[in-house]
Formats: sequence, structure tokens, C-alpha cells
Amino acid sequence: MEAILLRTIKRTLLWATVVLATVALSLGILITWPGPLFAFSLGSGNIIVASDHPIPPRGGERFLRDCERLLERSPLKAKRSHYRLYVTNDEWRQRLFFIPRPERWGFAWYYGFGGHAFLSGADFETGRVVHWGYVGTPPRTLAYLCAHELTHIIVSEHVGLDRFHVPQWVWEGLPECGGIEKRETYKQLRDALGDQPVDIPMRVKYGSYPRYRLLVTYFIEKKGWSFDQLLRTRLTEDGATEIMRVDDKD
Ligand SMILES: [Zn+2]
Repeated sequence: MEAILLRTIKRTLLWATVVLATVALSLGILITWPGPLFAFSLGSGNIIVASDHPIPPRGGERFLRDCERLLERSPLKAKRSHYRLYVTNDEWRQRLFFIPRPERWGFAWYYGFGGHAFLSGADFETGRVVHWGYVGTPPRTLAYLCAHELTHIIVSEHVGLDRFHVPQWVWEGLPECGGIEKRETYKQLRDALGDQPVDIPMRVKYGSYPRYRLLVTYFIEKKGWSFDQLLRTRLTEDGATEIMRVDDKD
């Protein structure tokens, strides 16, 4: 009796593992080669955007130009000739590609020798992100989100596996500095943010990661650090914040 029970448990576990591995593998393949699920596309410069809904040519071209212009300001130069973005307007596509974090507006997928980004939903005519009925407002525009996610890919190309050692405040702070159209100075950001905790109104007004942007702006503006230096640092957020605070007191 016990032997039968044990065998049943073993067999169930084996099947569960096979099913889970198949699902993970299928998702991996889908995220790496999502093209067939996106019927419409438009390219300009070195960015190609693909969508599950038709892309209005004027709005689409303006979006690509804006995103490219934001990326060109960055000292970190793109290595590839083309970068692809996929826009998931339909809810089922959004849920499928944004597993396991459906609340995100976008994410970058880098697989070692290339990468592309996903944006959750787009209104190309107005240049806004549309996420489950919520419409993003400046400074978090569609071009901002594009530049933010593509910066993640460009950073990954530069640092390779070291990406996993890049502190979170640099990993998210650099794309924020790259994506925001009108960047505040360190003083403006510091005066605006103070020591308040990050809440939704703060994120709406100052970008998705206001504190990380403040830190990155501080090291670039006040310490004269380059992007390469930022990517090489292993300072934690607390360590970096402490340096900034001490400097502020002097
Ligand atoms: Zn990010």
C-alpha cells in the first residue's frame, strides 16, 4: 500500500516538473522570439516597434524619433544596429508577456547576445503609455518608457554578466536619467524630494524611480562620475545616500 502511494507521489512530482519545465521553456521561446504574435511594425533609425494593433504612421514615427533622440543624449552608445520593441495592447498578450509582474509598464529582455523590450500599451497619437485604462502623463511618456527600457538593454550590452552586480540604484537610475525629457538639476530634485518616502504622486511627477535618479544625478553632477564609473561602482543605495547626505551638510 505504502509502496503504491510512494510511486504515485513520485509520478505526480515527475509530471509536475515536466509540465512546469515545458511552460517555462515555452515562455522563454515566446519572449525571445515574440515576432509572430505582433502583426504590425514600423521602423525608423535603429529602432523597430511592433504592435498587436495598427500603428498610426505619423504618431509612430514621431514616437521613434523622440525615443531615439533621448537615447542619443546618453554617453552610453548603442552597440547594435537595431533594437526591437513590442507593444502588448490586448489584455491577454499583456498578461502573457508580463508574467510574473503584470503591474509593470515595460520590461527589457536581454539574453546574452541581444535583447528587446516590451511596453504594456501605447497611444502613438498622443505619445502616452496606456496601462489597463490608466494613461501615463509627462514626464513618463511613451518615448520615456522606450528610452528607459532600451537603456537597460544597452547597459547589459556594455557590462554583460556584471549586470547582476550593478547596484539597483544605478540599474534603474541611469535609464531614468536617460528617459526623462526635462531633467531637473541635482538641487532641484533634492529640494523637491526632500526626505519624503516615495509615493505614487512623487513617481507620477518625477519618474518611476525618483530617489535613484536623485542619487545618479548627484554622482554625475557633483562628483563628476561618468556612466562607466557608475556601472562599476558597488556602492549600495544606503552607502551612496550617506555620501550624498554628508556632502550636503558641508
Ligand atoms: Zn527599469
